[in-house]
Amino acid sequence: SIPLGYFGGLGAASRNGILFKGASFLDAITKVKFVVTDKTGTLTQGVFRIKTIATENGWSEAEFMTYVKALEAQSTHPIAKAIQEYQVESSSVEAREVQEHSGKGLQALINGKTVLAGNATLLKSHNIEIPKSLEDIVETLVLVAIDGDFAGYIVVADELKPDAKTAIQKLKEAGVQQIVMLSGDKDTITQKVAKSLGITWANGGLLPEDKLREVEQLQAQGSTKVAFIGDGINDAPVLATADVGIAMGGLGSDVAIETADVIIQTDEPSKVAQAMRIGKATRKIVW
Ligand code: ADP
Ligand code: MG
Repeated sequence: SIPLGYFGGLGAASRNGILFKGASFLDAITKVKFVVTDKTGTLTQGVFRIKTIATENGWSEAEFMTYVKALEAQSTHPIAKAIQEYQVESSSVEAREVQEHSGKGLQALINGKTVLAGNATLLKSHNIEIPKSLEDIVETLVLVAIDGDFAGYIVVADELKPDAKTAIQKLKEAGVQQIVMLSGDKDTITQKVAKSLGITWANGGLLPEDKLREVEQLQAQGSTKVAFIGDGINDAPVLATADVGIAMGGLGSDVAIETADVIIQTDEPSKVAQAMRIGKATRKIVW
């Protein structure tokens, strides 16, 4: 049976838009010393806009975007949403044999040509040569290859959530020893965002299974509990593995919400520290 005090804690949390899937997590969250967080959609808004379109190899912007739009129409990724909204005046084409590579991007056949849109890992796995000059661009890039050749790129940008910096500050104040940011986005942009938020440990260019491995390694380190904060479909395995899996409820995918132990319904990362405070206050009453 659940001690009466826990009901007070769960109620206080829910009034603040924090949904605990059981009293045990209210207790577990007070023991968390390592917090691992996703970047996109968790600390950033997860709403991308197109900043620049650059084509190469003689592709016109309209042709290029027609192909990329047809491909991204098949994805629910936040980057795909931004590209879908871009208006092009040309006859539409159809993407066939679409494959989405989790944490990398998309591949399909369009007009008989293999089209790729995603990160450097995706293009490299198809032996596409990427111009060296792109390495210095500290932005999120969608790299595109058509028919075996690099065809251009789209610079997309996402904004920090208004409370992202406060969220990290409050976690430190709540006694969290180590905050780690893990992202599938490029490492250079991941480091830039981490620095702006006061996070000293960050890794980019990760696949969902890499995030999982990092959480498992932290768990192996000792007696402290590890929380993971995430939002996406890709985050479901790591949400399940963490001692306390915390999902952003608004933007978050259904799978993430189902798998998580705690849902932040308001999408505010600063609520994680609040959840810890409510947990601690509840423990004082229960004991
Ligand atoms: P994060 O860890 O930041 O949530 P993801 O794992 O969702 O990132 O994706 C990692 C990277 O893979 C993205 O930054 C992007 O470069 C690329 N990517 C994934 N899906 C797509 C897509 N549908 N279109 C273009 N790029 C994609
Ligand atoms: Mg994500």
